[in-house]
Formats: sequence, structure tokens, C-alpha cells
Amino acid sequence: VGARVLRPDGVVAILPEANLEAVALVAERVRSAIAGMHVELAGGQRLHGTGSIGLAVFPDHAESAKDLFLFADNMMYKAKAGGKARVAIPTADDVVEVFRDITEKSALVLDAIEEQRIIPYFQPILDVATKQVVAYEVLSRIEVGGDVMRADEFVEIAEKMGVIHHLDALVIERALTQMREMGHDGYVFINLSPRALVLNEFARNVRQIVADSGIPRERIVFEITERDTVKNLALLERFLNELKLEGFKLAIDDFGSGFSSFHYLRRFPIDFLKIEGDFIANMLTSPKDRAVVTSIKSLAQEMGITIVAEYVESQEVLDELHVMGVHLAQGYYVGKPARHVIDVDWTPLRS
Ligand code: C2E
Ligand code: CA
Repeated sequence: VGARVLRPDGVVAILPEANLEAVALVAERVRSAIAGMHVELAGGQRLHGTGSIGLAVFPDHAESAKDLFLFADNMMYKAKAGGKARVAIPTADDVVEVFRDITEKSALVLDAIEEQRIIPYFQPILDVATKQVVAYEVLSRIEVGGDVMRADEFVEIAEKMGVIHHLDALVIERALTQMREMGHDGYVFINLSPRALVLNEFARNVRQIVADSGIPRERIVFEITERDTVKNLALLERFLNELKLEGFKLAIDDFGSGFSSFHYLRRFPIDFLKIEGDFIANMLTSPKDRAVVTSIKSLAQEMGITIVAEYVESQEVLDELHVMGVHLAQGYYVGKPARHVIDVDWTPLRS
């Protein structure tokens, strides 16, 4: 049995060679073990927790690892919606329903790109020492009816469908126009999927968009993640080197979350490192997470790279980053992603 904490709010257990019946049995044991646990608080009260569990069995429910996770995740939400503290045993109808929802979402994303309904949102990035907003990260949104869909909900789908380069180009064009109209004169951080970047046509397109915008290349930072990995690192390296030579800046996104972070650091001419938000969010309570942040900080310092802490959600974390000498901070406490940028002196949010 392998169990691994993926995010602080979820655990995945992988049971090799198990059928639905066996998995359901183990899940039920886990659920009842969690129900029997409690934490004793200082005042003597007892804190109880519950577990909601979703299952996915290969190859009954999906054939790829990605779809299996997706299905199990959907089943977990079904367990929560069904009243929590339960195990959702998948039925044949669930399989049809979950994958139909995914197909509908794919169609929605395709339509949004086709009808150019992708909108840039802007999240401020603060200089920790001077408390000035020195940059914005561009994050894509789709407006459907009165709702706003976060990038989390559609970027992976767009990558999977091979249309991410259309989305990226559209968002960059809109974001730069808006930045220029608002007279923002700091950096603009832009997420690029490696898969888009290695397309000749895309790279040409982006250069043209930037040239037309009139914003100097030196103020544009491309963020590269390894979520959507490309097989051909040499090709990616060539494109990144070219961009760098032309004056653009480069950042590694979510540093510390994947296996090739260090590889990217060695190989690509990097200007900024963005530390994976989970380390920052847990830094004050977890000595291990704090140690990771400290060591990334000193590594970056030695290489002359500026670091950005993500998921800064409180004054306490911001203060601690100041003490540690971390350069830049981004997160809900600094400012949430918003439709417009307003370059005013930053004042902390009151909670
Ligand atoms: P990312 O680059 O790591 O972006 C940070 C995500 O965390 C954003 O979600 C943002 O809304 C959220 N966030 C910001 N501050 C906080 C905080 O203090 N706490 C918490 N819990 N979350 C925070 P979003 O916008 O849904 O983006 C998800 C991912 O999608 C991004 O992760 C980025 O990798 C990708 N993405 C977004 N826009 C684009 C785009 O235009 N093109 C490409 N290729 N990828 C994009
Ligand atoms: Ca990013």
C-alpha cells in the first residue's frame, strides 16, 4: 500500500492488484478509523474529524493515471455532497456522468477560446522590503454567465486538447494592451505552457504581440512550469535561450513541487524562482517547509536569482519573509487576482 500526501487537504492511497470489492473494504476501514480519532484541545474539548472517500479502479473506471485520479476526485466530491463521512462506491452511471461532465467542460473551453472569451486577471507582486507593488502576474479566466472560471479549472484541459497556445496568445495580447492603457511600468509575469513555447508559430506570434504592445521586453517575465512537461528538453532550452537573448526574463514556476525543478535551474537562464505556495503557506507551522524555503533562498542568492514567495496569506508570513530576506511576495494577503490593475501604494488588507 502506498499513501502519499498530495495537498494538505487530501491523501491518496494506491492499492496494487485490488478489485472494486477489496478497495471498498479498505476504504471503509480507513473511514471508520478516521471517525474513531480525535484531538484533545487545551480546554479539554475533543476535536473530531471525518473522511470522505472516492474510489477509482483500473481499468473499470479509467485507463490512464490522470483519468483515474480525476474520477476518484469526482467520487470524493460525491461522497462529500452525499453528507460527508462516507465512501462513494462508483456505479456505471457515475462513469458516464463524470466523463460527460468532462466532455462538456472541454466544449466550453473550446468555445471560450473560439469566441475569444478568455480574460486576463492580474495579481499584484510586492517588494517585501519596500512594500511597493513591482509586478503583476497574469492569470486567465473564463466568464460564463455571471460566473468566473479559474484557470485551475480549464488550463489542463486546454493543454490536453492541444489548444493552449491559442489561449496563451489571446491572453498575452489582452493583458499587455490593458497594462499599457493603465500605465503600469513594472514587470508583467506571464504563464506559458512549455507545449506552446516549443511551437515555432507560437513563438513568432508572441514576439509580434509584444512588439505591437510597445512594452519593453525587459519587463516581461515568462513563467515556465513543469506541470505540462515536454519530452524534448533540448528544444525547450533553445527557445528559452532565444527569448533570453532578446531581452525577455524567465521564471521557474512552482519551484520545489516537481522532480525536474533543479534540472530546469541548471539548464535554463533563469531570473526568478517562484517558490511553490504550499511551502510558504505552511512555513510558520512546519519546520520542514521552512527549511525548504530557507535553502531555496540561499541557493537562489548564490546564483543571483530573485525569489518570489507564492500563497502569502497573512501578515505573519509576510513579516517572516522580510526577516528571511525573501525579495518578492504574492498571495491573497498581498492581493487577490482582479479584473483591473490599480497602481496605488500598497496597504495591507484588514482581516
Ligand atoms: P500558478 O501560476 O501557480 O498560479 C497561482 C494560482 O494560485 C492561481 O490560480 C491563483 O489564483 C492562486 N492563488 C494566488 N494567491 C493565492 C493564495 O494566497 N492562496 C491560494 N490558495 N491560492 C492562491 P489560477 O488562476 O486558478 O491558476 C492555476 C494555474 O493555471 C496557474 O498556477 C498557472 O500554472 C496556470 N495558468 C493560469 N493562467 C494561465 C495562462 O494564461 N496560460 C497558461 N499556460 N497557464 C495559466
Ligand atoms: Ca504562475
